[in-house]
Amino acid sequence: MPATHINSYYAATANDDTRYPALKGTIKTDVCVVGGGFSGISTALSLVERGYQVVVLEANRIGWGASGRNGGQMIAGISGEHRIEGQLGEAGRKLLKDIRYLGHDIIEKRIERHQIRCDLKHGWMEVAARPRHMDGLRSYVAERQAAGDGDGLEVVEAADMGRVIGSRSYHGAMIDRRSGHLHPLNLALGEARAAAGLGVKIFEESPVTTVSGGAKPFVATEHGRVEANAIVLAGYSDPSFQTGPLRGLLFPTGSYIIATEPLSERVAQEVSPQDLAVADSNVVLDYFRLSADRRMLFGGRCNYSNRDPRDIRETLRPRLEEVFPQLKDVRLDYAWGGKIDIVLTRVPAIGRREPNVYYMQGYCGHGVNATHIAGDVVAEAIAGTMERFDLFEKIRHVRLPVGQFLGNQLLALGMLYYRLRDVL
Ligand SMILES: Cc1cc2nc3c(=O)[nH]c(=O)nc-3n(C[C@H](O)[C@H](O)[C@H](O)COP(=O)(O)OP(=O)(O)OC[C@H]3O[C@@H](n4cnc5c(N)ncnc54)[C@H](O)[C@@H]3O)c2cc1C
Repeated sequence: MPATHINSYYAATANDDTRYPALKGTIKTDVCVVGGGFSGISTALSLVERGYQVVVLEANRIGWGASGRNGGQMIAGISGEHRIEGQLGEAGRKLLKDIRYLGHDIIEKRIERHQIRCDLKHGWMEVAARPRHMDGLRSYVAERQAAGDGDGLEVVEAADMGRVIGSRSYHGAMIDRRSGHLHPLNLALGEARAAAGLGVKIFEESPVTTVSGGAKPFVATEHGRVEANAIVLAGYSDPSFQTGPLRGLLFPTGSYIIATEPLSERVAQEVSPQDLAVADSNVVLDYFRLSADRRMLFGGRCNYSNRDPRDIRETLRPRLEEVFPQLKDVRLDYAWGGKIDIVLTRVPAIGRREPNVYYMQGYCGHGVNATHIAGDVVAEAIAGTMERFDLFEKIRHVRLPVGQFLGNQLLALGMLYYRLRDVL
């Protein structure tokens, strides 16, 4: 059977059915990218725009992983910012300011340049799940504005929440008008089409089985081989590739989304009067937004055992109804899940496994923007400008010297701890 995207609202509304061939035989190129999600495709585009020959190998289909399944929230910055500031000081603060909207800029330029139809809308909001969380949101906005980096940020106090959301669950909010939301699978497919148009050779249904650095780097699949000057492990691909600095670094954990039937214009206006993407301020958070055809896409992590729930609809529905009682009898048309790659420091892991094998992974559920930043930083490094790449590579990560199974059990325990802290 040919590989397909999992059943989701995104797959049902995908607007590009391009199929790329499987790799057969040996080819030579400048850079071989492993993984056809946002990390891989955005790196390939950033490289081809700099004049490199690039091959992308995807095990399933373009956008098959988290990139084609996520909440579609395009959120400024990257996860783990406090850790970056703490470890890198002034250089870290400058880096964060420089890259905060870099992913947005890249995405917006590509949408325009390549006419990618992916329902981009501006406006993203973090809502305070507890009254005490407002202090953090207010001081974040004040700090950003004092640093001259607060355009488009606004605080919404509890009394004004009716103007931004039809829910009584929250105690205020912070809006970022430069962030927003989009149809992630259509963005991934559109970027892949653009990359192919610029000469990137893309192969689907081509799982990489061997990644070899050294003097003559190559990547092998069952039926083919790519010889390259550099290899990029773009996203989490295979535990056997997690060697050297990647060992014990990353723990995939589940996140799930339900999509309602299309809401009437009246109900959509009531629940989301400004059509903002929303995430709450809990560590184990809910995130939601309206799709272009007015469905409520409501996501969250709905178990703490780190096992997929048996019934995603029934597990997420109570939370949807708690936040929006007006959606009580609404039909749920789709339910799906994917893996979020967690690193314990929460800073995306960008670096080199060997001198010519680069990696980028671990966006901690914050990857729409961050993958595009990472793609640019890695492409820039391959082209010889190392400044931003070096800063990422300098970050000291926490690694667990245990296997994946035990690591995931520990992560589940950690999640439970944070969930209890959120609730209490
Ligand atoms: C349910 C969910 C909701 C999320 N919501 C948001 C959100 O709203 N906003 C946000 O910013 N982020 C969100 N994220 C996180 C975001 O989706 C990811 O950080 C991002 O998509 C990671 O992209 P990637 O390319 O690194 O990984 P992926 O998209 O997972 O791509 C990796 C690719 O590698 C391929 N692959 C695996 N093994 C091999 C192999 N051996 N050979 C070749 N290819 C291989 C896979 O098939 C896959 O296509 C969410 C994630 C999930 C799961």
